[in-house]
Amino acid sequence: MSSYFTSVTLPAVGPLSGAAPSAVSALLPVALLAATLLLRHLRDPEAPPGDAGDRRLLLSRRRRGGYDFIVVGGGSAGAVLANRLSEGGRWTVLLLEAGGQETAMSDVPAAAAYLQGGEMDWGFRAEPQPGRACLGLREGRCRWPRGKVIGGSSVLNYMLYVRGNRRDYDGWEADGNKGWGYRRVLPYFLKSEDNRNPYLTDTKYHSRGGYLTVQEAPWRTPLAAAFVEAGVEMGFENRDANGENQTGFMIPQGTLRRGNRCSAAKAFLSPVRHRRNLHVALESVATKVLIDPQTRVAYGVRFRRKGRTWAMRARKEVVLAAGAINSPQLLMLSGVGPAWHLEEKGVAPLVADLPVGENLMDHYGTGAMVFTVQQPVSLVQTRYETLDSVLRYFLFGTGALTVPGGVEGLAWISTKHAENPGDDYPDVEFHFISGNPGSDAGRSLREVLGLNDDVWRMYRPMTHTDGFSVIPMILRPKSRGAVRLGSKSPRQAPVIYAGYFTDGRDMDVLVDAVKFIVRLSETKPFRSLDATYWETPMPGCEHEQMHTDAYWECMIRHYTVTIYHYSGTAKMGPPGDPGAVVDPRLRVYGVPGLRVVDASAFPRVPSGNTNAPVIMLAERASDLIKEDWAGTRRRTRRRRRKKGAYEGPTKWPEKTAGSSSRGPSDNERRP
Ligand SMILES: Cc1cc2nc3c(=O)[nH]c(=O)nc-3n(C[C@H](O)[C@H](O)[C@H](O)COP(=O)(O)OP(=O)(O)OC[C@H]3O[C@@H](n4cnc5c(N)ncnc54)[C@H](O)[C@@H]3O)c2cc1C
Repeated sequence: MSSYFTSVTLPAVGPLSGAAPSAVSALLPVALLAATLLLRHLRDPEAPPGDAGDRRLLLSRRRRGGYDFIVVGGGSAGAVLANRLSEGGRWTVLLLEAGGQETAMSDVPAAAAYLQGGEMDWGFRAEPQPGRACLGLREGRCRWPRGKVIGGSSVLNYMLYVRGNRRDYDGWEADGNKGWGYRRVLPYFLKSEDNRNPYLTDTKYHSRGGYLTVQEAPWRTPLAAAFVEAGVEMGFENRDANGENQTGFMIPQGTLRRGNRCSAAKAFLSPVRHRRNLHVALESVATKVLIDPQTRVAYGVRFRRKGRTWAMRARKEVVLAAGAINSPQLLMLSGVGPAWHLEEKGVAPLVADLPVGENLMDHYGTGAMVFTVQQPVSLVQTRYETLDSVLRYFLFGTGALTVPGGVEGLAWISTKHAENPGDDYPDVEFHFISGNPGSDAGRSLREVLGLNDDVWRMYRPMTHTDGFSVIPMILRPKSRGAVRLGSKSPRQAPVIYAGYFTDGRDMDVLVDAVKFIVRLSETKPFRSLDATYWETPMPGCEHEQMHTDAYWECMIRHYTVTIYHYSGTAKMGPPGDPGAVVDPRLRVYGVPGLRVVDASAFPRVPSGNTNAPVIMLAERASDLIKEDWAGTRRRTRRRRRKKGAYEGPTKWPEKTAGSSSRGPSDNERRP
């Protein structure tokens, strides 16, 4: 039973003889209240999934010899996998999650940024890139937050529901990833969706009835309309970018439910938390995938839980869904990775020499496109963190606190550097935020981004003034980074080389995007609000003349921001792809019984925010796994007699192309 009720002790109900009638009548209301609460909790589809408890884990190990599937990581992908693989009651599933439960605070959409740096965040930092990126941040390091909680990064995220461009998926398929074209993946986006905006569900691109609730925020500031109107004035459509076309401006759709965050855990785990064949182990950190060194078959997981080390067997498969930073770390700790790197770190034995941790992609941009307006229209902390807002939120699920991370507008445009500008394949996305770094007097943004004192001093005069920011994000970065082991100890954080601007073409795109934003701010809707760019020069860029390309470049290098879409570190690709770690069915090459199903598997990051694509990926992966194991019960039993052999139904793929790289990439040598 969930943690909510572990501390509620029901009054003893039994023979009441002997109890004084007055005591009985005093106890009865309490008992009734407790029973009602308990019933409500048991039936509440949104009650969180509880921890299975040591006893159940021990029993499963002793009586059943483990689980059919062990899913590592209860984030966006892991929550979907746990739900789908335990459907029908045929297989037993253990979901291991390093973090604990969501909180009341993480439910509040406008509070998204405040969760970063807290105990629900792994708190990663990218390595410094002197002279190249993140120069105005403390220690010159970009912060890379990541969810450490059931629901994973979908609990920390800004809830924007974006699918990417159809060409992304057609590109995946064209690269040899059969079955991942847009036509094949659209049904999986629709499968999970429960869209609550009727004007959207009337189209073939949205659906109702899935686990994941999607809707526009029920409340908005006047700036939201100004942003969309500005786009229309510049000749763009106001459109649903998750529909037929992407280029244009829109009010965001969010993973929101009645004004609250709808995390992957709330969507996919809460409603199925009573399934007897699904156990969730919280605060359980996987430290190694157990792999037979002779046969290379993955047969279980080692994990730490409440100070004890456990080993649990997986009868069918181990599925890694620990995200694009932790999944490659875990693979490498288990002997699956670039041979040169594992040798360097003393990881033995080497199980498979694969380019794990390479091909790291992120969407990134700048936070420095900041404007003031002369009217009381934006999300200024003192105006909206009020009793009135709180009551509106709790009583009616509306008001300023329901705006997802303060983001009120999204847009996709093609810069002059886009491959084919007329082709509806934009190369930049804008996040329009109805606030500026001073809106909260530096309480969250300054900390979240880790602005250094000089940069913060530049923005401090904006404290509690009205304004907005537009964050341009490069959609198909050419730069690549890498995730490496800090050491062979699972306790040491992985080392992250973001690789920002290691390909100069990314800067060209961002400079053009920044110039577009200035033009956008000069349109009528923004002029009527007296929108003005914050003209104080960025510290470190005073030597450049403002509004020149050289200034914009310097500014972007100083105030670089991640949009948190780390991906590609266990790349999907056909056997002949030298960069591939998993095949198009997400099976790790050469390691039977092991798959990776999370953002690590993206061969190329989609042209949008990544939560919905990860959920789609996990939906399809669940079907692939089910397909692979369908009708195998008898065959499996027969195979089990062969000790150590892979019991699976299909032949596990091996790579045909050369495997890992020969040494550290240029991005690590030249930060
Ligand atoms: C601050 C922030 C804002 C974002 N905003 C948006 C947005 O608005 N829209 C959008 O589409 N995307 C957004 N994203 C990105 C999106 O949320 C992620 O791409 C997506 O959630 C990744 O899903 P995943 O399953 O790959 O990893 P995650 O959701 O991160 O899940 C990984 C899970 O594995 C667990 N784990 C890791 N290691 C271990 C281990 N060793 N043992 C056990 N468990 C482990 C983690 O604790 C975590 O719960 C944002 C991300 C962040 C961090």
